[in-house]
Amino acid sequence: MAVPALPAAVQNLWSGQTGVARGRASVVVGHGTAPDLLDDLARRADLAAGRVAAVLRQPVRALVIVPQDAAEAGRLAGLAGAAGLDGLAAVADRGRVIVVPGTFARLTPTGRDVVLAHELTHAAAGTGGLPPWLYEGFADYVGYRDAGLAAPVAAAELAAEVRAGRPPRGLPGPHDFAPGGGDPARLARAYQEAWLACRFIASSYGEETLVRLYREARAHGVDRALASAGLTAGSLAAGWRGYVLDELG
Ligand SMILES: [Zn+2]
Repeated sequence: MAVPALPAAVQNLWSGQTGVARGRASVVVGHGTAPDLLDDLARRADLAAGRVAAVLRQPVRALVIVPQDAAEAGRLAGLAGAAGLDGLAAVADRGRVIVVPGTFARLTPTGRDVVLAHELTHAAAGTGGLPPWLYEGFADYVGYRDAGLAAPVAAAELAAEVRAGRPPRGLPGPHDFAPGGGDPARLARAYQEAWLACRFIASSYGEETLVRLYREARAHGVDRALASAGLTAGSLAAGWRGYVLDELG
């Protein structure tokens, strides 16, 4: 039986030692990766593709690349090396999800599924033209939607701040998401704040509204998308602050 050709996006990644596992909705390509790990990733990528497809309401296929180390992951993602990855377990790049082997291996099974769904959301829905709170929050919304984690567990760093009487004042800005800022807890809170902003929109106005807002923001900018949803930057921030206190306080 002929082996199906690899998608163009993953051809000629490296020379030799290429392993492939195929799932229902996924192709996983590894560089010197153990076959059982490739099979496990194909199962998880199928699960992630299903989760992303359920939110986007469109078919989603996952293309997952497992380089041999973080330096190779960085090069494939167009970075100078591993430094730009800064603790990331995976990264979305041109429709592909590139796993950072060492960091990914240290995650819990639930964490692996969350990360794959998060990055696959970036790959499938795109991020261009959006503020980071929206594309990171949306990706975490999809990632955590079916993960079975309570909000104070998934947003532990932000919950600690809220309990200490320091709730967030405004949505996180681009600088809050800058990697290597020297404060990993602040970076974690920025993702958690963004996640709860998208979760607030979905729970208050419906998941379809969140998805529509995301697509419209991609096409026409976030202000126009918020207006279409009956929101302003101010009303979103006010509603989100109350939601954060309700969920984490
Ligand atoms: Zn992300």
